[in-house]
Amino acid sequence: MNIKEAIDLYKCASTKELSKIANDIVKKNYSDDVFIRGLIEFSNYCDMDCLYCGIRKSNGKAVRYRLTDEEVIDTVKFGLDANIKTFVLQSGEDYKYNVEKLSKLVYKIKKITGAETAITLSCGLMNRDDYKELKDSGCDRYLMRFETSDENLYSYLKKGQSLKTRLKGLENLKNLGFEVGSGFMVGLPGETIETGINNALLCKELELDMIGIGPFIPHDETPLKKEAPGSLDTILRTTALLRILLPYSNIPATTATGSIDALGREKALSCGANVLMPNITPAKYKKNYLIYPGKICLDESGSECISRLSERVVSVGKKISYERGDSISYTIMKQ
Ligand code: SAH
Repeated sequence: MNIKEAIDLYKCASTKELSKIANDIVKKNYSDDVFIRGLIEFSNYCDMDCLYCGIRKSNGKAVRYRLTDEEVIDTVKFGLDANIKTFVLQSGEDYKYNVEKLSKLVYKIKKITGAETAITLSCGLMNRDDYKELKDSGCDRYLMRFETSDENLYSYLKKGQSLKTRLKGLENLKNLGFEVGSGFMVGLPGETIETGINNALLCKELELDMIGIGPFIPHDETPLKKEAPGSLDTILRTTALLRILLPYSNIPATTATGSIDALGREKALSCGANVLMPNITPAKYKKNYLIYPGKICLDESGSECISRLSERVVSVGKKISYERGDSISYTIMKQ
């Protein structure tokens, strides 16, 4: 299906029809496998002040924490015992966790996990040299959402920053050989159906290896507290469109999607998603990584989180794969 046909379908087909087409593509490319990534939210300090985000710098009510290297490594070890082969380390833009400290941490983790385990970082925008240092230290993948393809909306939400700079960051990551993930929020204030389509088209243009999307959820301690959240239906339709446009990329069913609907992640897995990210951050910290309210799994330990996810996966006729799950697009590109 070409791009125009995919967009026409997105505009005209029912969610059920879209989901059937997207799920057929997933089945063809991934069989029933759902890859898992162990998510470690290692710091919620952030120097940014994004209007939508609960851990923005000016939220004085956020309870801040930072895991020590040892705590991160212990969490990775726990994940390895649970058979996880990909770890995603996410944080705010915490300048105390500078590139030197991060590279050392990645190097230490890689020494323990061995080469076949993939390390993903998601720590925001840095310059090319810093990304290079992270790559050289053994980091395999990087996640950084572009949030919205609407330049004006982007710069409003990120207090004057430019979308172009963020996209340049993604280009640098790609050129350095990272497996690159990005994505956007669905239902941001001021967004139209065209914004949603342009968001998906930008993912296609960037040839992303991973695409994470989730509904915007208003947080009470942010300037957007009175805005409406994104809808599950739009998430599902957009997930299906992304799968049609990017048949070989990894698409997670995100925690935010599971937070607006108890079966949100299962529904996303039936609509084109093929990845789940159990949150294995130590329980005493994870309740404070509150980028949006109502986040699920906060009272679960890492192992509870993983075992509940397996049940969810089975309920939609799929099974967890413990492979490291490089994106097919990345594997093809490397050959
Ligand atoms: N500092 C990193 C990680 C940011 S938090 C970075 O800049 O990439 C991870 C993601 O949470 C963000 O990219 C954003 O898409 C999402 N997010 C933040 N606030 C949100 C909200 N109120 N509702 C839904 N998603 C949100």
